[in-house]
Amino acid sequence: MIYADNAATTKVCDAAIEAMAECMRNGYGNPSSLYSFAQDAKEVLEGARKTIAECLCCDPKEITFTSCGTEADNQAVATAAKIGRKAGKMHIISTAFEHHAILHTLKRYEEEGFEITLLDVAPTGVVSVEQVAEALREDTCLVTIMYANNEIGTIQPIAEIGALCKERGILFHTDAVQAAGHLPIDVKAQNIDMLSISAHKFHGPKGVGVLYARKGIVLANVLEGGAQERNRRPGTENVPGIVGMATALKIACDGLEESTAKVTALRDRLIEGLDRIPYSELNGDPVKRLPGNVSFCFEGIEGESLLLLLDAKGICASSGSACTSGSLDPSHVLLAIGRPHEVAHGSLRLSIGDDLTEADIDYMVESVTEVVTYLRSISPFWRDMVEGKREHVFAE
Ligand SMILES: *Cc1c(COP(=O)(O)O)cnc(C)c1O
Repeated sequence: MIYADNAATTKVCDAAIEAMAECMRNGYGNPSSLYSFAQDAKEVLEGARKTIAECLCCDPKEITFTSCGTEADNQAVATAAKIGRKAGKMHIISTAFEHHAILHTLKRYEEEGFEITLLDVAPTGVVSVEQVAEALREDTCLVTIMYANNEIGTIQPIAEIGALCKERGILFHTDAVQAAGHLPIDVKAQNIDMLSISAHKFHGPKGVGVLYARKGIVLANVLEGGAQERNRRPGTENVPGIVGMATALKIACDGLEESTAKVTALRDRLIEGLDRIPYSELNGDPVKRLPGNVSFCFEGIEGESLLLLLDAKGICASSGSACTSGSLDPSHVLLAIGRPHEVAHGSLRLSIGDDLTEADIDYMVESVTEVVTYLRSISPFWRDMVEGKREHVFAE
């Protein structure tokens, strides 16, 4: 099997599994209890916090553990909304191609009276600092822009946007779930006020994440309960998950340079191979993109059929986001970068890791080419295009 869906989730690394097993077997105390056995668990928890803070270049006190990336995103928006409402500032800026953890949360605040500006990202999938500057208003309380997109892999100018927001005194949050462990992050140097990450996107376990919040920002509670996480996030801490996350993030950050070089070379080999398929186009920016992300649209095919046939060839792929599969609507991300509906339906995302080889890449190119050719041969849409009854969207 070739696993090429790392943007949906990743394989948990062995070191994280071992650290978690040890924690569950021998370190199962509740960090809030007073006896020394539980205080040992508390120490392990704080050690993990320190490790993660080092990876993000911040203070451990600025790290709050959450149950996932979605919760961190929700809490970041809730925090800015609470601060904004108090100050009479109820305008939020984001982009049209955020993850639903942000977009659906913003929708809720819109119903509560906030005004939301979603910046356009067409056609490369990159937001410019100028666009953000133009959208800023006196009553803007938050700018939230993802670090790297989960479907098309584009990387945003985070440090520049952060500098702009800092200058204007506006909170800046970034959903860095796809970036953490894959791109260098320095929250101070990049002027980031709040940042979300999720362990299962960098070879840690599912169900655990982090919300970084710069010192001085009082987080709004999403859950009500006990005093854990210094009153910022109630609920008994998921110590094994947190330890697994810290272990995985440290390994990813320590090996970042090496894995980036390897994965980028594999990615570009894959892009080059798929680009040879006629009437296909790469989605997103060729350079400002995640090392492991390959996203294409092919004319005249249905993404779902493509996935099923690739599965039969032992390739795990995605048509876009795992969160939106199961719905028949084309991806909001592909529509946001201006792909027409009929082309957005023929999308393929291969998100690769450093476990793959050049031979795996060549097999993927061969398999996708074969499957696309077959699907076109049985597509009435494609026949219409070949017969000139329907216009092509892409050049050959
Ligand atoms: C996966 C993902 C999320 C959600 O994280 P979970 O831990 O699965 O809730 C949020 N944002 C982006 C960009 C993601 O890729």
